[in-house]
Amino acid sequence: MSDFVENAKNFVNAAVSRTSWEAQRQLRLRGKQGELDKLLEQRRQLLDELGLVAMNLYTQGSLSDPQLSRLCASILELDNDARKREAQLVDIKQEAYPADQFGPAPTTNYSPPPVSSAPYTPPPAPGNAAQPGAQAQNNCPQCGSPLRANALYCRSCGAKLR
Ligand SMILES: [Zn+2]
Repeated sequence: MSDFVENAKNFVNAAVSRTSWEAQRQLRLRGKQGELDKLLEQRRQLLDELGLVAMNLYTQGSLSDPQLSRLCASILELDNDARKREAQLVDIKQEAYPADQFGPAPTTNYSPPPVSSAPYTPPPAPGNAAQPGAQAQNNCPQCGSPLRANALYCRSCGAKLR
């Protein structure tokens, strides 16, 4: 075999083994990424579970750590706010054009839209909305931190307020 042919064969072999090596490497990369994704997903699930356990302890009144209590209180406040927004969303979706409002007898025949079955606290009417500073500031009975209006939990110390 001439040197030329021998060299060309070696070159091709090297190229083939490099290609299959690269393919193997891609496979190993994908496998390792899959393992990593699985671990991170397990970690996320455990973190969720940790949060649920802490929330349960807090709502049962048996969570003594102040930092955890504060976080649980903030989550419950957010849940409460989210539920209000959900109810408001439902109301807006159910709104019908108030045509009779512009008729000759605007108030006598008007009936409000049906109330959703979910517990719902109506938002303050636009005219009666609390102005900033117009309401007396409430403070937490336990730590004295200022509270938001209608707060269920203190975001500073996690004390239950109602
Ligand atoms: Zn407090």
